[in-house]
Amino acid sequence: MNTIKFTKRSEMRKETSNVEVFSVKDRTIGDKTYKYFSDAQISLYVTKKCNAGCPFCMNKLEKRCVRSTELEDDKYYKILDYYLESFSDIKPWITITGGEPTISKRLVPTLKMIKDKGFKIRTFSTNGSHLLDMVDGKPILQYMLENNVLNNVNISRMATSDIENAKLMNISETESNNDKLKRIATYAATNDIEIRISCNLLQDGVKNLDDILKFKEFYNNLGISTVMFRELIPLPYEDKMYVNIDTVFEEIEKNEDFELVRVIEGLYYTVKVYNYGEYLVKCYKEKGTADKSVIREFVIYPDGKLDNGFDNETLMEVQL
Ligand code: SF4
Repeated sequence: MNTIKFTKRSEMRKETSNVEVFSVKDRTIGDKTYKYFSDAQISLYVTKKCNAGCPFCMNKLEKRCVRSTELEDDKYYKILDYYLESFSDIKPWITITGGEPTISKRLVPTLKMIKDKGFKIRTFSTNGSHLLDMVDGKPILQYMLENNVLNNVNISRMATSDIENAKLMNISETESNNDKLKRIATYAATNDIEIRISCNLLQDGVKNLDDILKFKEFYNNLGISTVMFRELIPLPYEDKMYVNIDTVFEEIEKNEDFELVRVIEGLYYTVKVYNYGEYLVKCYKEKGTADKSVIREFVIYPDGKLDNGFDNETLMEVQL
Protein backbone atom coordinates (compact mmCIF):
# COMPACT_ATOMS: atom_id res chain seq x y z
CA MET A 1 0.00 0.00 0.00
CA ASN A 2 1.47 3.41 -0.94
CA THR A 3 2.39 5.10 2.32
CA ILE A 4 4.17 8.09 3.87
CA LYS A 5 5.61 7.36 7.30
CA PHE A 6 6.99 9.88 9.81
CA THR A 7 9.20 8.49 12.58
CA LYS A 8 11.31 10.51 15.00
CA ARG A 9 14.93 9.52 14.55
CA SER A 10 15.40 9.43 18.33
CA GLU A 11 12.57 6.90 18.64
CA MET A 12 13.37 4.59 15.76
CA ARG A 13 13.33 0.92 16.64
CA LYS A 14 14.79 -1.97 14.78
CA GLU A 15 12.60 -2.36 11.69
CA THR A 16 10.64 -5.62 11.50
CA SER A 17 11.24 -5.76 7.76
CA ASN A 18 13.96 -4.58 5.44
CA VAL A 19 12.71 -3.92 1.91
CA GLU A 20 16.24 -4.29 0.53
CA VAL A 21 16.81 -7.82 1.77
CA PHE A 22 14.65 -10.49 0.18
CA SER A 23 14.61 -13.68 -1.82
CA VAL A 24 12.01 -15.89 -3.45
CA LYS A 25 11.63 -19.40 -2.05
CA ASP A 26 9.59 -22.51 -2.74
CA ARG A 27 7.02 -23.98 -0.40
CA THR A 28 4.85 -27.02 -0.78
CA ILE A 29 1.35 -26.61 0.58
CA GLY A 30 -0.92 -29.61 0.23
CA ASP A 31 0.06 -31.19 -3.09
CA LYS A 32 1.26 -28.00 -4.81
CA THR A 33 4.51 -26.07 -4.68
CA TYR A 34 4.33 -22.27 -4.64
CA LYS A 35 6.86 -19.50 -4.79
CA TYR A 36 6.76 -17.12 -1.86
CA PHE A 37 8.46 -13.89 -0.84
CA SER A 38 11.03 -14.56 1.91
CA ASP A 39 9.48 -11.80 4.02
CA ALA A 40 5.88 -12.99 3.45
CA GLN A 41 3.82 -12.62 6.59
CA ILE A 42 0.77 -14.39 7.92
CA SER A 43 -2.20 -12.01 8.12
CA LEU A 44 -4.61 -13.35 10.67
CA TYR A 45 -8.23 -12.26 10.85
CA VAL A 46 -9.14 -12.68 14.51
CA THR A 47 -12.67 -11.63 13.54
CA LYS A 48 -14.43 -9.91 10.65
CA LYS A 49 -16.70 -7.94 13.00
CA CYS A 50 -15.96 -4.29 13.64
CA ASN A 51 -17.50 -1.59 15.82
CA ALA A 52 -16.69 1.03 13.15
CA GLY A 53 -18.18 1.28 9.69
CA CYS A 54 -15.56 3.01 7.55
CA PRO A 55 -16.93 3.45 4.03
CA PHE A 56 -13.43 2.80 2.66
CA CYS A 57 -12.95 -0.44 4.62
CA MET A 58 -10.98 -2.91 2.52
CA ASN A 59 -13.02 -5.80 3.88
CA LYS A 60 -15.94 -4.63 1.76
CA LEU A 61 -13.80 -5.26 -1.31
CA GLU A 62 -12.33 -8.52 -0.10
CA LYS A 63 -14.61 -11.11 -1.68
CA ARG A 64 -13.24 -13.80 0.57
CA CYS A 65 -13.87 -11.72 3.69
CA VAL A 66 -17.37 -10.67 2.62
CA ARG A 67 -18.55 -14.18 1.95
CA SER A 68 -16.68 -15.96 4.73
CA THR A 69 -18.65 -17.15 7.71
CA GLU A 70 -16.89 -16.76 10.99
CA LEU A 71 -15.85 -20.05 12.56
CA GLU A 72 -17.03 -21.15 15.97
CA ASP A 73 -14.35 -20.52 18.61
CA ASP A 74 -13.24 -24.12 19.15
CA LYS A 75 -12.81 -24.66 15.38
CA TYR A 76 -10.94 -21.37 15.06
CA TYR A 77 -8.41 -22.37 17.75
CA LYS A 78 -7.90 -25.82 16.22
CA ILE A 79 -7.36 -24.42 12.75
CA LEU A 80 -5.02 -21.69 13.97
CA ASP A 81 -3.05 -24.31 15.87
CA TYR A 82 -2.83 -26.42 12.70
CA TYR A 83 -1.58 -23.54 10.51
CA LEU A 84 0.99 -22.39 13.06
CA GLU A 85 2.31 -25.93 13.30
CA SER A 86 2.42 -26.08 9.47
CA PHE A 87 4.57 -22.94 9.33
CA SER A 88 6.68 -23.72 12.37
CA ASP A 89 9.79 -24.37 10.23
CA ILE A 90 9.87 -20.83 8.81
CA LYS A 91 7.84 -18.93 11.44
CA PRO A 92 6.73 -15.95 9.34
CA TRP A 93 5.90 -12.73 11.15
CA ILE A 94 2.22 -12.40 11.96
CA THR A 95 -0.03 -9.42 11.43
CA ILE A 96 -3.14 -9.32 13.59
CA THR A 97 -6.06 -7.88 11.69
CA GLY A 98 -9.84 -7.90 11.34
CA GLY A 99 -12.48 -6.48 11.71
CA GLU A 100 -11.56 -5.09 15.08
CA PRO A 101 -9.50 -7.68 16.95
CA THR A 102 -9.98 -6.07 20.36
CA ILE A 103 -13.75 -6.68 20.36
CA SER A 104 -13.26 -10.42 19.94
CA LYS A 105 -12.92 -12.67 22.97
CA ARG A 106 -10.61 -14.80 20.83
CA LEU A 107 -7.89 -12.16 20.88
CA VAL A 108 -6.25 -12.98 24.21
CA PRO A 109 -6.09 -16.79 23.63
CA THR A 110 -4.82 -16.10 20.09
CA LEU A 111 -1.98 -13.89 21.34
CA LYS A 112 -1.02 -16.54 23.88
CA MET A 113 -1.01 -19.30 21.25
CA ILE A 114 1.17 -17.23 18.91
CA LYS A 115 3.68 -16.55 21.67
CA ASP A 116 3.69 -20.13 22.96
CA LYS A 117 4.46 -21.44 19.47
CA GLY A 118 7.39 -19.06 19.13
CA PHE A 119 5.96 -16.76 16.42
CA LYS A 120 6.37 -12.99 16.52
CA ILE A 121 3.84 -10.30 15.76
CA ARG A 122 4.89 -7.74 13.19
CA THR A 123 1.84 -5.50 13.19
CA PHE A 124 -1.36 -5.19 15.18
CA SER A 125 -4.11 -3.29 13.35
CA THR A 126 -6.84 -1.73 15.48
CA ASN A 127 -9.11 1.29 15.63
CA GLY A 128 -7.93 1.65 19.23
CA SER A 129 -11.40 1.95 20.72
CA HIS A 130 -11.18 -1.11 22.98
CA LEU A 131 -7.48 -1.38 23.82
CA LEU A 132 -8.22 -0.32 27.41
CA ASP A 133 -11.11 -2.76 27.88
CA MET A 134 -10.68 -5.12 30.81
CA VAL A 135 -10.48 -8.89 30.34
CA ASP A 136 -10.33 -10.84 33.60
CA GLY A 137 -9.16 -7.80 35.50
CA LYS A 138 -6.50 -6.60 33.04
CA PRO A 139 -6.65 -4.20 30.09
CA ILE A 140 -6.14 -5.70 26.64
CA LEU A 141 -2.97 -3.61 26.34
CA GLN A 142 -1.57 -5.55 29.29
CA TYR A 143 -2.14 -8.85 27.46
CA MET A 144 -0.42 -7.39 24.43
CA LEU A 145 2.56 -6.48 26.58
CA GLU A 146 2.67 -9.94 28.17
CA ASN A 147 2.56 -11.60 24.75
CA ASN A 148 5.27 -9.44 23.17
CA VAL A 149 3.05 -7.25 20.99
CA LEU A 150 5.51 -4.42 21.34
CA ASN A 151 5.99 -3.05 17.82
CA ASN A 152 3.78 -1.53 15.19
CA VAL A 153 0.49 -1.27 17.03
CA ASN A 154 -1.29 0.66 14.29
CA ILE A 155 -4.28 2.69 15.46
CA SER A 156 -6.57 3.96 12.70
CA ARG A 157 -7.57 7.58 12.98
CA MET A 158 -8.83 9.73 10.11
CA ALA A 159 -9.02 13.21 11.69
CA THR A 160 -7.65 14.99 14.74
CA SER A 161 -11.13 16.16 15.76
CA ASP A 162 -13.20 13.51 17.56
CA ILE A 163 -16.35 14.66 15.76
CA GLU A 164 -14.75 14.53 12.32
CA ASN A 165 -13.11 11.19 13.01
CA ALA A 166 -16.42 9.72 14.20
CA LYS A 167 -18.07 10.85 10.97
CA LEU A 168 -15.34 9.50 8.70
CA MET A 169 -15.04 6.14 10.45
CA ASN A 170 -18.70 5.81 11.37
CA ILE A 171 -17.81 5.13 14.98
CA SER A 172 -19.12 6.68 18.21
CA GLU A 173 -17.12 9.44 19.88
CA THR A 174 -17.37 7.62 23.20
CA GLU A 175 -15.63 4.60 21.72
CA SER A 176 -12.93 6.47 19.86
CA ASN A 177 -11.59 9.75 21.16
CA ASN A 178 -8.35 11.59 21.82
CA ASP A 179 -8.64 11.34 25.63
CA LYS A 180 -8.59 7.57 25.28
CA LEU A 181 -5.69 7.77 22.81
CA LYS A 182 -3.74 9.88 25.29
CA ARG A 183 -4.20 7.24 28.00
CA ILE A 184 -3.14 4.54 25.54
CA ALA A 185 -0.07 6.60 24.56
CA THR A 186 0.91 7.04 28.22
CA TYR A 187 0.55 3.31 28.91
CA ALA A 188 2.52 2.47 25.77
CA ALA A 189 5.34 4.89 26.60
CA THR A 190 5.59 3.53 30.14
CA ASN A 191 5.75 -0.06 28.90
CA ASP A 192 7.84 0.44 25.78
CA ILE A 193 5.07 -0.49 23.34
CA GLU A 194 5.39 1.27 19.98
CA ILE A 195 2.05 2.67 18.90
CA ARG A 196 1.52 4.47 15.62
CA ILE A 197 -1.35 6.36 14.10
CA SER A 198 -2.47 5.19 10.67
CA CYS A 199 -4.50 7.64 8.60
CA ASN A 200 -5.95 7.15 5.13
CA LEU A 201 -5.72 10.04 2.70
CA LEU A 202 -9.33 11.12 2.08
CA GLN A 203 -10.98 13.92 0.14
CA ASP A 204 -12.99 14.86 3.27
CA GLY A 205 -10.07 14.39 5.63
CA VAL A 206 -6.29 14.58 5.41
CA LYS A 207 -5.58 15.22 1.73
CA ASN A 208 -2.38 17.23 1.27
CA LEU A 209 1.01 17.92 2.84
CA ASP A 210 -0.27 20.78 4.95
CA ASP A 211 -2.98 18.55 6.47
CA ILE A 212 -0.39 15.80 7.01
CA LEU A 213 2.01 18.06 8.90
CA LYS A 214 -0.77 19.41 11.15
CA PHE A 215 -2.07 15.89 11.82
CA LYS A 216 1.43 14.62 12.65
CA GLU A 217 2.06 17.52 15.02
CA PHE A 218 -1.28 17.05 16.79
CA TYR A 219 -0.51 13.42 17.60
CA ASN A 220 3.08 14.20 18.48
CA ASN A 221 1.73 16.60 21.11
CA LEU A 222 -0.58 13.83 22.32
CA GLY A 223 2.42 11.51 22.79
CA ILE A 224 2.38 9.52 19.53
CA SER A 225 5.20 10.48 17.21
CA THR A 226 5.06 7.80 14.51
CA VAL A 227 2.30 8.56 12.04
CA MET A 228 1.53 6.95 8.68
CA PHE A 229 -0.58 8.20 5.80
CA ARG A 230 -1.88 5.68 3.29
CA GLU A 231 -3.44 5.88 -0.13
CA LEU A 232 -6.73 4.03 -0.60
CA ILE A 233 -6.77 1.27 -3.15
CA PRO A 234 -8.19 3.27 -6.10
CA LEU A 235 -11.28 1.24 -6.90
CA PRO A 236 -15.00 1.90 -6.46
CA TYR A 237 -14.72 4.87 -4.13
CA GLU A 238 -12.32 6.68 -6.45
CA ASP A 239 -14.48 9.72 -7.20
CA LYS A 240 -15.68 10.69 -3.78
CA MET A 241 -12.95 9.66 -1.36
CA TYR A 242 -9.72 8.83 -3.15
CA VAL A 243 -6.65 11.09 -2.95
CA ASN A 244 -3.76 10.30 -5.26
CA ILE A 245 -0.67 10.02 -3.03
CA ASP A 246 1.57 11.05 -5.96
CA THR A 247 0.35 14.64 -5.46
CA VAL A 248 1.67 14.53 -1.88
CA PHE A 249 4.92 12.88 -2.99
CA GLU A 250 5.37 15.80 -5.39
CA GLU A 251 4.70 18.33 -2.60
CA ILE A 252 7.38 16.63 -0.48
CA GLU A 253 9.87 16.63 -3.36
CA LYS A 254 9.39 20.36 -3.90
CA ASN A 255 9.48 21.30 -0.20
CA GLU A 256 12.95 22.47 0.86
CA ASP A 257 12.42 21.30 4.44
CA PHE A 258 12.53 17.71 3.17
CA GLU A 259 16.03 16.51 2.29
CA LEU A 260 16.21 13.35 0.17
CA VAL A 261 18.86 11.10 1.74
CA ARG A 262 18.29 7.71 0.13
CA VAL A 263 16.29 5.71 -2.39
CA ILE A 264 15.79 2.04 -1.56
CA GLU A 265 14.69 -0.55 -4.12
CA GLY A 266 12.82 -3.57 -2.80
CA LEU A 267 10.88 -6.32 -4.54
CA TYR A 268 7.54 -4.59 -4.06
CA TYR A 269 8.41 -0.99 -3.18
CA THR A 270 10.63 1.91 -4.07
CA VAL A 271 11.21 3.86 -0.85
CA LYS A 272 12.38 7.48 -0.84
CA VAL A 273 13.85 8.46 2.52
CA TYR A 274 13.92 12.11 3.64
CA ASN A 275 15.21 14.01 6.63
CA TYR A 276 12.58 16.41 7.95
CA GLY A 277 13.68 18.19 11.13
CA GLU A 278 13.83 15.55 13.87
CA TYR A 279 11.90 13.06 11.69
CA LEU A 280 12.85 10.46 9.16
CA VAL A 281 10.18 10.34 6.46
CA LYS A 282 9.77 7.27 4.26
CA CYS A 283 7.66 7.42 1.10
CA TYR A 284 6.69 3.90 -0.05
CA LYS A 285 5.57 3.55 -3.66
CA GLU A 286 4.40 0.17 -4.91
CA LYS A 287 6.13 -1.16 -8.01
CA GLY A 288 3.73 -2.40 -10.61
CA THR A 289 6.28 -4.90 -11.84
CA ALA A 290 6.27 -7.53 -9.11
CA ASP A 291 5.74 -11.15 -10.15
CA LYS A 292 2.16 -11.88 -9.10
CA SER A 293 2.75 -15.62 -8.98
CA VAL A 294 4.95 -15.07 -5.91
CA ILE A 295 2.97 -15.24 -2.67
CA ARG A 296 3.43 -12.05 -0.72
CA GLU A 297 1.31 -12.91 2.29
CA PHE A 298 -0.51 -15.91 3.70
CA VAL A 299 -3.96 -14.88 4.86
CA ILE A 300 -6.03 -16.81 7.37
CA TYR A 301 -9.59 -15.63 6.74
CA PRO A 302 -12.46 -15.72 9.25
CA ASP A 303 -13.77 -18.93 7.65
CA GLY A 304 -10.47 -20.65 8.46
CA LYS A 305 -9.18 -20.97 4.90
CA LEU A 306 -5.57 -20.19 4.10
CA ASP A 307 -5.37 -17.91 1.11
CA ASN A 308 -2.70 -16.18 -0.97
CA GLY A 309 -4.20 -12.74 -0.21
CA PHE A 310 -3.92 -11.66 -3.84
CA ASP A 311 -6.36 -13.41 -6.14
CA ASN A 312 -8.01 -15.39 -3.35
CA GLU A 313 -6.63 -18.74 -4.34
CA THR A 314 -7.25 -21.08 -1.42
CA LEU A 315 -3.95 -22.65 -0.46
CA MET A 316 -5.29 -24.89 2.25
CA GLU A 317 -8.59 -25.75 3.81
CA VAL A 318 -8.43 -27.76 7.00
CA GLN A 319 -11.04 -30.41 7.59
CA LEU A 320 -11.76 -30.93 11.27
S1 SF4 B 1 -11.84 0.28 11.65
FE1 SF4 B 1 -10.76 -0.96 10.10
S2 SF4 B 1 -11.88 -2.92 10.03
FE2 SF4 B 1 -13.19 -1.42 11.09
S3 SF4 B 1 -14.52 -0.60 9.47
FE3 SF4 B 1 -12.76 0.79 9.68
S4 SF4 B 1 -11.28 0.03 8.15
FE4 SF4 B 1 -12.77 -1.60 8.46
